[in-house]
Amino acid sequence: MTRIDPQPGIMDIALYQGGTSHVAGIENVVKLSSNENPLGPSEKAIEAYRRAAFDLNRYPSSDHRALRQAIGKVHGLDPERVICGAGSDEIIAFLCQAYAGPGREVIHTVHGFGMYRISALAAGATPIEVLEQERVTDVDAILAAVTDRTCLVFMANPNNPTGTMIAASEVARLADGLPDQALLVLDGAYAEYVEGYDGGASLVEARTNVVMTRTFSKLYGLGGLRVGWGYGPTEVIEVLNRVRGPFNVTQPALAAAEAAVLDEDYASHCRVENARWRTWMADALAEIGVPSDVSLGNFILARFADKAEAEACDAYLQSQGLIVRRVAGYNLPSALRITVGDESACRRVVHAVRQFKGGARA
Ligand SMILES: *Cc1c(COP(=O)(O)O)cnc(C)c1O
Repeated sequence: MTRIDPQPGIMDIALYQGGTSHVAGIENVVKLSSNENPLGPSEKAIEAYRRAAFDLNRYPSSDHRALRQAIGKVHGLDPERVICGAGSDEIIAFLCQAYAGPGREVIHTVHGFGMYRISALAAGATPIEVLEQERVTDVDAILAAVTDRTCLVFMANPNNPTGTMIAASEVARLADGLPDQALLVLDGAYAEYVEGYDGGASLVEARTNVVMTRTFSKLYGLGGLRVGWGYGPTEVIEVLNRVRGPFNVTQPALAAAEAAVLDEDYASHCRVENARWRTWMADALAEIGVPSDVSLGNFILARFADKAEAEACDAYLQSQGLIVRRVAGYNLPSALRITVGDESACRRVVHAVRQFKGGARA
């Protein structure tokens, strides 16, 4: 070695673009760009977080037992096979660190979540992008892209930013079709928004090559705290725990997440409110010529005529204090992803898009 160089792959990483939260010169902005819960977290989670403030001199639990047990109880899972991370992003990173690497391939779809590619490159592996079928995960296309170098296949169900979902039978067909050395990662960041859906947990139970990831950042409204978790076969969880730092999740975050997952009434209240305003917003936008696929998440992917119209609408929304997400980086240049806000936010979005469609410009 002759120079101070990073590992191969690292300089190929394009920095993650988060949702914007400010517009210069405009007050009263509504941020609808990061799929955050507009209702905030459970009061019980906030209380638990406050209580944890009295013990900040103490290191956090390193085995996350209390949170894992609460997750196990609420979701009917074996707490021994739950691993917690600083957001599910960290679980994705652990998976890549442990299973990907130089000479290995990591599959994700063309409109898949950006962290899959970033984590694969950070581990020195080769990301492989697979086409979708009209913004829906295409199992046959994924299976066709598999090689003897495939180590991980990432897919979110429901997917972000498309909001679409594929049937459990299709996911099972994907798991069945993978070669022995490949692990299927089911990202369930939006699973809680789908009434009665287990996020893929039953498939994890039934097979040895499936891992599920979940997060407290979306329905539970704790994005600022960074807590996520994974569920998988014992062998996989044991591997991931070796690369996990012992104090990777802070104590206030563990305490708040535990209270949040146990507050099932609040979680279902958030689920119901989201579904109600998602349908209302999607229908109202469709009526004024802005269609979207049926979304199962807490956002919709609004489609415009072309890139120019999507960008002009985004600029107009910003001028009205409404921040949504451009998704050209997800190969969707003519769409905008709009988080389902509270009633007033949804009404403001529809009003502004109607004005835009009627000829208003920023
Ligand atoms: C938001 C999101 C995540 C992760 O979020 P964390 O805050 O790191 O838990 C993971 N996957 C998808 C698809 C997401 O949209």
